[in-house]
Amino acid sequence: MDKYRVMQAENRKLYNQVQDLRGAIRVFCRIRPAGRTNDDSPVCVESAGEDGLVVRCPGPKNELKDFHFDKVFEPQVTQAQVYEDTQPLIRSMLDGFNVCIFAYGQTGAGKTHTMSGTDVEHADGRGINYRALDDLFLLRDERATEVVYSIKVQMVEIYNETLRDLLVDGGHQVRLEIHNTQASGLNVPGAKQEVVTSSADVLRLMDKGARNRKSAETRMNERSSRSHQVLTVIVDGDNLLTGAQTHGCLHLVDLAGSERTTKSEATGDRLVEANHINSSLSALGDVMAALANKSKHVPFRNSKLTQLLADSLSGQAKVMMFMHIAPEASSFQETLSTLKFATRVSEITLGQVGTW
Ligand code: ADP
Ligand code: MG
Repeated sequence: MDKYRVMQAENRKLYNQVQDLRGAIRVFCRIRPAGRTNDDSPVCVESAGEDGLVVRCPGPKNELKDFHFDKVFEPQVTQAQVYEDTQPLIRSMLDGFNVCIFAYGQTGAGKTHTMSGTDVEHADGRGINYRALDDLFLLRDERATEVVYSIKVQMVEIYNETLRDLLVDGGHQVRLEIHNTQASGLNVPGAKQEVVTSSADVLRLMDKGARNRKSAETRMNERSSRSHQVLTVIVDGDNLLTGAQTHGCLHLVDLAGSERTTKSEATGDRLVEANHINSSLSALGDVMAALANKSKHVPFRNSKLTQLLADSLSGQAKVMMFMHIAPEASSFQETLSTLKFATRVSEITLGQVGTW
């Protein structure tokens, strides 16, 4: 078979997989290797098979709790292996689907590792954000005789319910508003979108985004864990043979740390931040639950985060949530709260058949 036919066959296969996925939400769990955060307390989490997880509650009873997901990634699983499960979704975007991928979990549980990566100057360390864009470039080249694609990137953070453009340097910020009526990926007209054509472009932009995020940090505030970062990829395709046009949008979301701050710990700015994070994460949970239940009313308007993502979550969006677990016993309470959030979304969707 020539290359074109191979590609057609592959597209059909992927198309079928995508059909299975219509409206689906997949919930994955990734366990961070122990000891990455200077915490030497014993490990209280173990995987139990491909899709299960056991948490050992500290205390005299040593009670065990079981949880189930679409899949559990054990600590030694590589960035490339994690990406394998994401790949079909990224590909479906080229055919005009909207996709959202979230990293949820307490600070230090590995969200940024999954989305951006660690030591990204080495390809092995790169997370989903880089791999997704590289894949899009590859597919664009493979299909070049048939379709012309334009790939654009936008990067914003949401801090205390305010949007900030991470592709614009500090002094040049404009006020960003969300317009609910726009097509997916175009609902923040004031945000800068940059065309990317190669991995080098992406590395440069990510670096810029990271620097802009860093520049807003104060001594007291490690900003990256207190804000949501949303990288949006917008892909438009023009089919040269049929004249058909496609439009797809991918949101890659590194959420703020989900840890609960007690009133006694947090005062002033910290308390304001904590309240904003708590309310936006619960708004996200409500939206996910409504989508999973196929409810008529999805409460997108309750937070900036859900408003921003509404454009691609309504309709036939494909959603993937990576729940991140810190395995140390000291994080036990936060782990349970993460697993509870995950269960709320996944117990409704488990049982829906369909392969990736
Ligand atoms: P978060 O973004 O949730 O606060 P990070 O992604 O920054 O957490 O992870 C905390 C630390 O653990 C970082 O140093 C990161 O490199 C490391 N880490 C997280 N997950 C993994 C993993 N799966 N394998 C190796 N190191 C990891
Ligand atoms: Mg982080």
